[in-house]
Amino acid sequence: MEPRATLNYSEEKENETRKTLERQGYHFVGAKKHSAVKTCLWLRKSLRGEGNCYKGKFYGIRAHRCIQMTPSIFCNQRCVHCWRPLEAFNMGTEEKHVVWDSPDEIVEESIKEQKRLISGFKGSDKTSMDAFAEAEVPKHAAISLIGEPTLYPYLKELVQEFHSHGMTTFVVTNGTNPDVLREIRPSQLYLSLNAPDEAIYKKVSHANHWSRIKESLEVLKRQKGRTRTVVRITCVEGLNMVNPEGYAELLEIANPDFVEVKAYMHIGYSRKRLSRDAMPTHSRVKEFASEIADFLASASNYDYKIVDESEISRVVLISSTSLEMSRRKI
Ligand code: SF4
Repeated sequence: MEPRATLNYSEEKENETRKTLERQGYHFVGAKKHSAVKTCLWLRKSLRGEGNCYKGKFYGIRAHRCIQMTPSIFCNQRCVHCWRPLEAFNMGTEEKHVVWDSPDEIVEESIKEQKRLISGFKGSDKTSMDAFAEAEVPKHAAISLIGEPTLYPYLKELVQEFHSHGMTTFVVTNGTNPDVLREIRPSQLYLSLNAPDEAIYKKVSHANHWSRIKESLEVLKRQKGRTRTVVRITCVEGLNMVNPEGYAELLEIANPDFVEVKAYMHIGYSRKRLSRDAMPTHSRVKEFASEIADFLASASNYDYKIVDESEISRVVLISSTSLEMSRRKI
C-alpha cells in the first residue's frame, strides 16, 4: 500500500524495538512488521478450562477465541505505567515515510499466526479438545496489545476486515486521534483516560495531547449507540488516584456505556519506572471507583454505579446500563 501518513522514528530504533519485543513473546505479522500478535495467560487458562479473563466476566469474551493484536507497535505517548519498553520504542527524530501493510494482509496473517501459536496446546493433556477446536476459529480481535492503533492509517478498514471474517472487535485507544475515532466502528471502543486534568496527564503520559483527548471524549459521546463505549482509567497510586470529581467531569463529556477503573500492574518495563507500591490493592481501586461513580451519578443525572468487579485483575466496572443487556450485545 502507498504511504498515507508519516511517523517520526529512526530505523535503528525500530530494529531495536522489534528485537526487544520478540524477546518478550510478541510475534510480528505482515511484511512490514509494524503489526504484532501475542497470546495471553488467559488464553492458556481458557483452553484448559481454568478460568477466563475479566473481559469474559464483563462482556462475554471467551479468551481462547480472542486474538490479541496491534496494527501499530508505535505510540505517541510515553506513559509511566506502560509495560512496553519505551526506551527502545521511541519514534526517534528523523522523519521517515512508513509503508504500511494492507488491512487484509494483517488480518489474514494475524489469524494464521494465532493458529500457529496455539497449535502446541493440542498435545497437552490439560487442554480441552472442544475448546481447542473453538480456538482454531477465533471470534474476537482485541486491537489493544501494545502501541497506539489509531496511528495505523487504515484502522477503519482493518476493523471492517475482522468483521467480514465473522469476528467482533475491541479497539483500545489513548484518544490522541479524534478524527480516526470519528470514522471507525468497532464492536467496542475503549478510550484510556490517565488523568483528571492536564497537569497530571503530562506527568503520567509525558505527552502534549490533552486537548485532543478531550475532543475524543466528545467523539465517544457521539459514537454511543453506534458502538459500545468504554473509558478505562488505569490507577497509579501516588500519581493519578486523585480528584475523582475531575474524572467524573471528564466522563460526563463522554457519557460512556461503561467505565473500567483498573489498577496499574507492576509488570514488564514499567517496573523500571515505578515501585511496587504504585500498584493499588483491589479494595483501594474499588473505593476510588465508588467515589468516581458517586460524582458521576450526581453530575450526569444517569444512574452510574458499580455493576461488577474482578479481584484477580483489580478492576471495577461502572455502568449506567444493564450488564446483562450489554453481555447479549457482543
Ligand atoms: S498510550 Fe498505551 S501504549 Fe502508548 S505509552 Fe501509554 S500505555 Fe503505552
